[in-house]
Amino acid sequence: MDTYDVIIIGTGAGGGTLARHLAPSGKRILLLERGDWLPREFENWNTEAVFVDNRYVSPDTWYDRDGKPFQPGVHYVVGGATKLYGAALYRLRKEDFGELRHHDGISPAWPISYEELEPYYTLAEQRYQVHGARGEDPTEPPSSAPYPHPAVSHEPRIQQLADDLAANGHQPFHAPCGIMLDESNPLFSTCIRCATCDGFPCLVHAKSDAEVLGVRPALEHDNVTLQTNAKVVRIDTNEAGTAVTEVVVERDGGEERFDGGIVVVACGAANTAKLLLQSANDKHPNGLANGSDQVGRNYMFHDSTAVLALSREENLTAYQKTLGLNDFYFGADDFEYPLGNVQMVGKSTAPMFRGERPGETKLAPEWTLDRMAKHAIDFWLSTEDLPHSDNRVTVDRDGKLTLSYTETNLEAKKQLYAKVKSMLGKLDMNPDHLIHRFAYMKNDIPIGGCAHQAGTARFGTDPGASVLDTNCKAHEVDNLYVVDTSIFPSIGAVNPALTAMANALRVGDHLLERLAA
Ligand SMILES: Cc1cc2nc3c(=O)[nH]c(=O)nc-3n(C[C@H](O)[C@H](O)[C@H](O)COP(=O)(O)OP(=O)(O)OC[C@H]3O[C@@H](n4cnc5c(N)ncnc54)[C@H](O)[C@@H]3O)c2cc1C
Ligand code: SF4
Repeated sequence: MDTYDVIIIGTGAGGGTLARHLAPSGKRILLLERGDWLPREFENWNTEAVFVDNRYVSPDTWYDRDGKPFQPGVHYVVGGATKLYGAALYRLRKEDFGELRHHDGISPAWPISYEELEPYYTLAEQRYQVHGARGEDPTEPPSSAPYPHPAVSHEPRIQQLADDLAANGHQPFHAPCGIMLDESNPLFSTCIRCATCDGFPCLVHAKSDAEVLGVRPALEHDNVTLQTNAKVVRIDTNEAGTAVTEVVVERDGGEERFDGGIVVVACGAANTAKLLLQSANDKHPNGLANGSDQVGRNYMFHDSTAVLALSREENLTAYQKTLGLNDFYFGADDFEYPLGNVQMVGKSTAPMFRGERPGETKLAPEWTLDRMAKHAIDFWLSTEDLPHSDNRVTVDRDGKLTLSYTETNLEAKKQLYAKVKSMLGKLDMNPDHLIHRFAYMKNDIPIGGCAHQAGTARFGTDPGASVLDTNCKAHEVDNLYVVDTSIFPSIGAVNPALTAMANALRVGDHLLERLAA
């Protein structure tokens, strides 16, 4: 059996980032990824292939709490969900690390402060080449360094939107974007600023994803090995149950075993919970590291709405994700609880609508799909989803994953939608239409759109109420860690990837110390 110092399971935002951070240590590191490399092919940028045929969505079936099957929007490839993500790389707000009162209840505090994570946010922004502008977003947390790259400029229609918002007393800002765009030297820029970014893989590898900026740089080190098509089905422990001994992989109908001094799980929130739950043994009868009964619970995925407004003028924007608005993040004059974040989502195109719910266009019957696409300005509204113990992942004996979920914070979500709708007339847009679109989540079953899944193995100081300690080590197992979004005690209302990356770097520093000891 092969023996490694560290085994990392999963190569997405958490696992890929950690691999790169540990690679220079010279320790023997094994990356186990259930998927393969995402092929570089013309279909990467083909709307029908990506949005209608779901070419890069994995063919898993999960079940809702009523036993109804659905296909989750998950991506089993090297780089994980970041291969398809919109690369909006936000920090959580400083306040998100404390307890926050919402309309529906409490968003719990994190066991570490914003200040503890701040240096790692800075490092993550550097590793993932984030473009942005400090000082524009009034809710922005303090930072120890400027963004490593200048903000991505707005295209004319989005600049007009920014100007109109400002003229109406709002504070729009340049959104933090993880694309390798050099506007000062376009001929040598890796990124060509195209319209097929958010929800698409990047054909020219110019998106700051965990394959390009995590796994590939890690593999430049001889001590790092990647095994693809290596689905981990079990983690075994010693007889006392105090330490992980072997990681079991299912491949080509056979079983392979790997021995790791330290094992780090980073399978994405639902699959991390699944793996821990199905690794139950005599000493861990409810699932590995699950003495607290918290594994799988507190699943969150944001109360998100993708909507499009219809601009009076055509919207010719290609790369639309350059603007954000956090004016309602912590509430509004007429609503004392947090509402959430407003940002742009990839530009709608007519073929994309075929991948969405048929019938949505009935909302604007006088508009043809083509005309609608030309005039669409697309927003992504995110309200914080609160952790509920009954919103959970469970697994049966056959490995069937059930995701039981009831939406939280719906009033705040409704209010945020109403706020944006009420602004349209002043923003040179058709005031009657703010139309829901499901392009981003790709699925007409709301829980299937699990792009922002988090929270199933939260970290904390109380072993009775959390799965992991503050180093993200399992309370009950000496050498088992988790570094993906499952560690989140609360999710805030901004996109989660940069926080997963920053935390992986923080845990990485702890592991480097441990490995050196
Ligand atoms: C379309 C889309 C757009 C998004 N846009 C944004 C955005 O703009 N900004 C943002 O911050 N976030 C965005 N997200 C969310 C972001 O991508 C995720 O939050 C982030 O990737 C989560 O990181 P992770 O490490 O938890 O999981 P992932 O990145 O999903 O990585 C999990 C990895 O584990 C592997 N794996 C799973 N099970 C096993 C197993 N049993 N054995 C071996 N390997 C396994 C998977 O194949 C995968 O590679 C988006 C997501 C999607 C899908
Ligand atoms: S905008 Fe840039 S990073 Fe995004 S897909 Fe196009 S070339 Fe790639």
